[in-house]
Amino acid sequence: PIILSQTSYTHRDDLTYPYQERALQFGDGIYEVIRIYNGRYYLLEEHVDRLFRSAEAVKIELPFTKQEVTDLLLELLEKNEMKEDGKMYMQVSRGSAPRDHVFPADVPANIYAYVQQLPRAEEKLKNGVPVITQRDIRWENCYIKSLNLLPNVLAKQEAKEQGCDEAILHRDGRVTECSSSNVYLVKNGEIRTHPATNNILHGCVRMKVKSLAEEQEIPFIEEAFHVEDIEDADELFLTSSTSEVMPITKVDGKDIANGAPGRITRLLQQAYDQDAGIASTE
Ligand code: PLP
Repeated sequence: PIILSQTSYTHRDDLTYPYQERALQFGDGIYEVIRIYNGRYYLLEEHVDRLFRSAEAVKIELPFTKQEVTDLLLELLEKNEMKEDGKMYMQVSRGSAPRDHVFPADVPANIYAYVQQLPRAEEKLKNGVPVITQRDIRWENCYIKSLNLLPNVLAKQEAKEQGCDEAILHRDGRVTECSSSNVYLVKNGEIRTHPATNNILHGCVRMKVKSLAEEQEIPFIEEAFHVEDIEDADELFLTSSTSEVMPITKVDGKDIANGAPGRITRLLQQAYDQDAGIASTE
């Protein structure tokens, strides 16, 4: 497998990092994950835009323009002869330098990106997944796609240990998002989700689902719902580049409605599949 390293390519096994690396010592960096369908990126421009927003927010200087990184990422697909469904992971750290909290002077950002196969989660997309609820203990800048994922890792692990796929996070009962996805509640034909503030990652699929809902004239209300609203929800679903539009059928051991994916979730899944140019999961 070929990996993008800085702005050129190398074999994955030839990539090494110094032990004094700021991503390792401080989590001082940012990342992106982009879905690949049939060897083509989905929502590439949106992800590149967010990469630049994250970099600016943490004052990391990127060594390329949006067009240049887009071209590099497209070339990465070609070099790997990627034709299947997969994902691309890109990481940017502030660089390698003797450990000091203060930014190092004149050190270039360390960048790498790889692609790997990732089949769609067909079974889960059809049947839905169980989740748990957890306190959101993260910092105040969750809109930055930062490498500091320890609270997310701990929340996801807790979900796994309880036989679930995700953790719905809440601040004082107000639902923000999940450990690695955005989350939505459907009640009386309306979709509700946390507004795109600093407290959530502004998901590229969230942005897409918003426009797909609006096209179908389904109200998309950007207002946080509460943990206590979940009990009476008609439907619940989550979105991310790797999970797509994923029905949630159980929360903390209790069924959502009749325990099956709901009508609006299904509609959005179909619209998503069509937009992404993939065969429907139905
Ligand atoms: N929220 C968090 C915390 C995430 O880590 C992710 C993506 O992995 C998302 C939301 C969904 O973002 P996107 O739709 O851009 O994949």
